[in-house]
Amino acid sequence: MSRLYYVVLFFICSATAVATTCQHQRVKVQVLGSGGPELSDGRASSSYLIWLDNKGVVLIDAGAGSSLNYEKSGAELVDLQMIAFTHFHVDHSADFPAFIKAFYFTERTQNLLVFGPEGNHFMPSASEFTNRLLGSRGAYAYLNDYLNKEAASPFKIISQNIAGVKRRPEAVYASHSIALFAIPVHHGSLPALAWRVELAGCAISFSGDMSNRYQTLVKLAQQTDILIAHNAIPETMQGAGRALHMPPSEIGKIARQAGVKKLILSHRMRRTLGKEQISSRFIKQAYQGPLVYANDMDVFSP
Ligand SMILES: [Zn+2]
Repeated sequence: MSRLYYVVLFFICSATAVATTCQHQRVKVQVLGSGGPELSDGRASSSYLIWLDNKGVVLIDAGAGSSLNYEKSGAELVDLQMIAFTHFHVDHSADFPAFIKAFYFTERTQNLLVFGPEGNHFMPSASEFTNRLLGSRGAYAYLNDYLNKEAASPFKIISQNIAGVKRRPEAVYASHSIALFAIPVHHGSLPALAWRVELAGCAISFSGDMSNRYQTLVKLAQQTDILIAHNAIPETMQGAGRALHMPPSEIGKIARQAGVKKLILSHRMRRTLGKEQISSRFIKQAYQGPLVYANDMDVFSP
């Protein structure tokens, strides 16, 4: 689709979102994974399920353990319209094939949309990631019918790679009820995206893992009802951790500049667990709005 289409779509969707007040009772976001890649943080890895009218419609990331927590959530796989990945680190994507196989046991006939960043020398794009798992020569080639257009299967997986531009959020998807926007964020050498989901007049944004070197999240999260930001490092962290992630003070600045209405801290790791008080102090230097630390299965309304 042309760039002009996205520009027009973005302004149409933005206008719609601005014109409508958030219908709080229709929308929820559930934390399926509030942890990072450690297997010692007592948490599933990154994943969030967005509910609209009591249906789980959008999944952001599918880290390890998210499929089990998805099951606990009581959501129905036939309702899931799309999975949007922030990036393809293990702690954001490992359970993806578990979700795909589980569809086999449902009555699903609707295609599943899969969005994720474009690839580079280091990481596959969303479509390559899907192909390397489910392609005819993939690790799970026995599930290839979901990709192969010639094969008979009740539905197909449709992947889309999002390059994005740093100047403004890109409209990635829009239906009568859901709009998705993405913007590139800096996460070391990995292509990575932050996501904004608009539905029923509400906006929920997700930082994914990022350092804020690009300073793009603030554009995406403007006036968002909820921002789920990743609290992967403590304020004092330097070195590789700091090159990949944002410290609490940075999260606070972004939340203030974007006018975030509720800030939720997730992707909690052993290096940040137990430091909530000090992290909150750094965040509150800039942002005085509601601030919550997420646990697995928590449900938040905008
Ligand atoms: Zn991560």
